[in-house]
Amino acid sequence: MELKIELVKEVGGNKKVRVRFAPSPTGHLHIGSARTALFNWLFARANQGIFILRIEDTDVTRSTKEYEASIIEELKWLGLDWDEGADKDGSFGPYRQSQRLEIYQEQIEQLLNSGSAYYCYCTADELEAERQKAISEGKMPKYSGKCRSLSNKEQLLLKKQGKSPAVRFAVSSNQPYEVKFSDLIKGEISISTEVIGDFILLRADGSPTYNFAAAVDDFKMKITHVLRGEDHITNTVRQILVCRSLNQSQPQYGHFPMILGADGGKLSKRHSHTSISEYRDLGFLPEAVINYLSLLSWSSESGKEVFGLEELRQLFSLNRVGKSAAIFNFNKLEWLNKVWIKKLPDREIARRLNLLINEQDFQNKIPTRDVFAWLLRAVKAIKSNITVLLDAKEQLEQIIEPPVYSSDVKQKLKSWKARESVKIFRYWLNNYSDNEIFSSVSIMQEGELDLDNCKDLLKKAARQAKDKGIAGKDFYHSLRFALTGKDSGLELFYLVNLYGKERCLNLTEQVLKLV
Ligand code: GLU
Repeated sequence: MELKIELVKEVGGNKKVRVRFAPSPTGHLHIGSARTALFNWLFARANQGIFILRIEDTDVTRSTKEYEASIIEELKWLGLDWDEGADKDGSFGPYRQSQRLEIYQEQIEQLLNSGSAYYCYCTADELEAERQKAISEGKMPKYSGKCRSLSNKEQLLLKKQGKSPAVRFAVSSNQPYEVKFSDLIKGEISISTEVIGDFILLRADGSPTYNFAAAVDDFKMKITHVLRGEDHITNTVRQILVCRSLNQSQPQYGHFPMILGADGGKLSKRHSHTSISEYRDLGFLPEAVINYLSLLSWSSESGKEVFGLEELRQLFSLNRVGKSAAIFNFNKLEWLNKVWIKKLPDREIARRLNLLINEQDFQNKIPTRDVFAWLLRAVKAIKSNITVLLDAKEQLEQIIEPPVYSSDVKQKLKSWKARESVKIFRYWLNNYSDNEIFSSVSIMQEGELDLDNCKDLLKKAARQAKDKGIAGKDFYHSLRFALTGKDSGLELFYLVNLYGKERCLNLTEQVLKLV
């Protein structure tokens, strides 16, 4: 016997595309799962289809509400939305497997009645002993099918002994056969039932296994395309068998290539951060993460690599998902993050930075009450030299903390040239009001008046210093030492602006007191 799945009509045919992302809430959203979610979302949106979020929480020992919430939050952070799902209504709900137990029970009855499934009373110890025996004999471990031939009488006896059975799928009663399907990405796939033992559908505690629940849900939810990582190919065969035995036509399947670390091993903590939440906490932008995920085994026709979600939606096609594994490249993700920091409006970066920093202690040290305006100016000053928002946080901390002068720097600041430079700077600073040095009003109007003032101030001071025989280079150098204690960093006019008049004056005083 040979099973061949019927192909659902071509995309764009008369079947509305319905795809799902079905995470198990047993951890944070992993990079690989996030790519699966993104590609399903793009496929749905590109085909005017429906995208469903289904929570696969039947493994009660490993699933938690916290992980479910974090996965939902991480998907939203990435900018993905869904039409039906665990936190939404829809005609095919509930969308959380733990709430669908009755549905599974009904299907189990059907499989038991038709002889496609049977009760198995084997204990964990018995199964383990069987497994070890197979291994020691050099055979592939696979359930022997021992309980399949239990008579009613034997079953009754076992039940009387208080044993609760699991339910197994009867894979092939006599001759093994090939299960074939046409994978949307990998092409024709054929797997012999010989390698598949009678697998469990319902555990002894009554909970359904992943392969059973997923197969049932896929046809109950009228899923047209199941798109997921290639590590699920062997599950697909089991799910096809379940569908067929329940007289349901199965969806079309497509399996994305794996994502590997640079050494060719499966992407793991060893290589890089693996969960989306870690990237968020480091200050990667969701735009950059989505952009990077899109390039894992997919490429645009033009070779272009920087896209927002909307553009991706317009360009995405499964035809351009390759067959070979993607190598996760952290440097490329960093590069994309830099690109997106420059691409997004300063105001937006400031808003996100504000959320990231949001610490009273930090905000108290900012020389203005208008934290947002200050951050907006700070973003302008630092955005060309940050990779992730955490870098920005670090740089801003350096700006707001008082400078530390090493003895070497102190020595330099005591020189005639340095003292004179600082005095000249102070003189010119006193010609401006607080507001002229840093004005949240002008920033709010997108003006640059205060920045222009800071530039002017420095220019005038430098000119005067030059008249006194101090070269521009020496003047600026001295001033930088005075304001930061360091010999390199942000452009001085930004610093003067971000420090504000009062702090600049205090620092000059402090420096002039050095004797
Ligand atoms: N719950 C499964 C997982 O997280 C879903 C796989 C599938 O898409 O069927 O791996």
